[in-house]
Amino acid sequence: MARDFEHDSGYDPLEFARSLAGKLLFTPGPTEVAEEVRRAMALPVANSDLDPEFARLYRETCRQLGELMHTRNDVLILAGEGLLGLEAAVASLVEPGDRVLCLANGLYGRGFADFARDWGAEVTLFEADDREPLDAARLERFLSEREAAGSGGEIPLFRLATLVHCETPTGLLNPVDRLLPVLKRHGILTVVDSVSAIAAVPLEADAWGADVVLGGSQKALSAPPGLAFLSVSPAAWERMRRRRHPIPGVYLNLWRWHEEWLGQGIFPYTPSTSDIYALHEAVQRALAEPEAERFGRHERIARAVRAAIRAAGFELYPREEASSPSVTAWLVPEVLRPREAELRERLWRQHGVMMAGSWGPTAGLVWRAGHMGENARPDKGERFVRALAELLQEAGWAMPGDPVAAYRAALG
Ligand SMILES: *Cc1c(COP(=O)(O)O)cnc(C)c1O
Repeated sequence: MARDFEHDSGYDPLEFARSLAGKLLFTPGPTEVAEEVRRAMALPVANSDLDPEFARLYRETCRQLGELMHTRNDVLILAGEGLLGLEAAVASLVEPGDRVLCLANGLYGRGFADFARDWGAEVTLFEADDREPLDAARLERFLSEREAAGSGGEIPLFRLATLVHCETPTGLLNPVDRLLPVLKRHGILTVVDSVSAIAAVPLEADAWGADVVLGGSQKALSAPPGLAFLSVSPAAWERMRRRRHPIPGVYLNLWRWHEEWLGQGIFPYTPSTSDIYALHEAVQRALAEPEAERFGRHERIARAVRAAIRAAGFELYPREEASSPSVTAWLVPEVLRPREAELRERLWRQHGVMMAGSWGPTAGLVWRAGHMGENARPDKGERFVRALAELLQEAGWAMPGDPVAAYRAALG
């Protein structure tokens, strides 16, 4: 059908984006982006291949990301969403027939298993209920028993393990500080998705034994979506070097980064220069705040938002101690479920505040608030809680307490 451009002349497709200023994205990614970070994106575009200053910026931003993750391993920034990092790690490390252990108590943990199968792995799942964190002692027993049963067999039993730090769709935090050392003791290479935890939650990549750590720009770093970053240990590079078959393809191929960027200072493809300006600014902001303060701020806001959620009469999805300081997920009561999408829409249209539903098995059953990065500020938390309380009142939901008062009391 021919488009009638005449008819559309009054329509400005960017108008909605202009009107976002003053509204609040209280979602677990994208999060609010600070004005300084947005301004960095408007700087003139560099020629990333010919301008050595751009290469310096890239290198420096990688170094600072390593500082955030507490790793001395190589760090790369890839032009693509967080998911690109997950798939690139699996595509580069997994060969057909490899035995891969996927720790899974949520959507991303199981997604890793799908990726690994796509790349030819023989996957074993180590699972827990989606409302419970994975248990390190149980993992230790699982691996020891498997090894004993396979006596005479190949050690290590698994060539690779994947795990998720914060399961964003359910707000659950896994104890990667205890899980990683168990996997390392059993000689297993590890890939950790810390996309929604980095910068909000402690992460000691080297001390805990993470071979590959994955992050994204749009979560707790509060930069715009568009970049994945990852750290790669010498053991992980060695695994790629010694593959029986070369990594197929180009874009997911981390070995090319090893040979071209790390080896010769040449980017395998044109980096997203403007996104990297913004990421650099965002990382600077994160590092400018001492860790204890940054993590403390996330814990405080999380505690206060959860106090408000309980005062509103809701049940947290994972219990409080299992919840991540970066995101809160709670059950939508049965009577509100038929209207859950409509209520979120109303919160956005009438109160200018966006909260998230969920994905996969908890779609329609869970609501989520993303209080990471720039969102983890007392005023933003209060704005969200106030808007939610007003919405619930309008919806005729009887609240047992006063969410705003509970929020303030918990903030202290
Ligand atoms: C956001 C996120 C990703 C990346 O997903 P995108 O859709 O690419 O943003 C990966 N893992 C986790 C745990 C995440 O929260």
